[in-house]
Amino acid sequence: MSKGLIIAIDGPAGSGKSTSAKLIAKKLGFLYIDTGAMYRAVTYIALENEAIGNEKKIVELARISKLELRFDESGIIILLNGRDISKEIRSDQVNRHVSDVSRISDVRKLLVEKQREMSRKDQGVVMEGRDIGTVVFPDADVKIFLTASLDTRAIRRTKEYIDNGSEVVVDDIKNNLSSRDKIDSSRTDSPLTKAPDAVVIDTTKITIDEQINLILDKVKEKAKQKNINLDIKTE
Ligand code: C5P
Repeated sequence: MSKGLIIAIDGPAGSGKSTSAKLIAKKLGFLYIDTGAMYRAVTYIALENEAIGNEKKIVELARISKLELRFDESGIIILLNGRDISKEIRSDQVNRHVSDVSRISDVRKLLVEKQREMSRKDQGVVMEGRDIGTVVFPDADVKIFLTASLDTRAIRRTKEYIDNGSEVVVDDIKNNLSSRDKIDSSRTDSPLTKAPDAVVIDTTKITIDEQINLILDKVKEKAKQKNINLDIKTE
């Protein structure tokens, strides 16, 4: 029997999407897809080709570039035409331009199509982003919308950068998150918004374990309804 649940996790940057999505996918043996990494990769290509501000060129670059996403023990690996750009897509420059690139409808069309193609429904998939429960998979089995206060999100993001050896200032991170939130929530095509049937989890004051357990409870509930046997790894 197929164990193919689709789990959509949406929310703003720093709300805990990646941490939860990765752990849930690992526990369930599901495919993990970070759609933000795809928008970041297109932004990186645009920067590399001096195309920022030139929508037509950005769409063309997105169309002709070969993007591959892999996920292993070391994290997410993103390959652009075979070249590993996993580090580059997290740069300050990409942070600054990604929301403007993500506003372009034709870029979204291309990436949404790819996201649907990549999903192996028979294996199960955990996909994180801004529009997964609303646009990419409006029929997802479980929809989660994560939130957290801006201060908490900025502190989390700053810590991640520092842990990875980058020098960052919390106020700069906070400004970037707030500006991306604004652009992402106000764009006309696929804005960052909660799907009507999504479960909201505020992660400001809860631990990662609590966050994971709340999501897993929803997944288990759905699996029971659909008569699907989940094989949940405990470690
Ligand atoms: O998730 P992450 O913070 O890496 O996403 C980077 C940016 O990519 C977001 O700020 C947003 O502009 C864009 N994005 C999007 N739709 C998604 C995922 C990310 O527009 N599904």
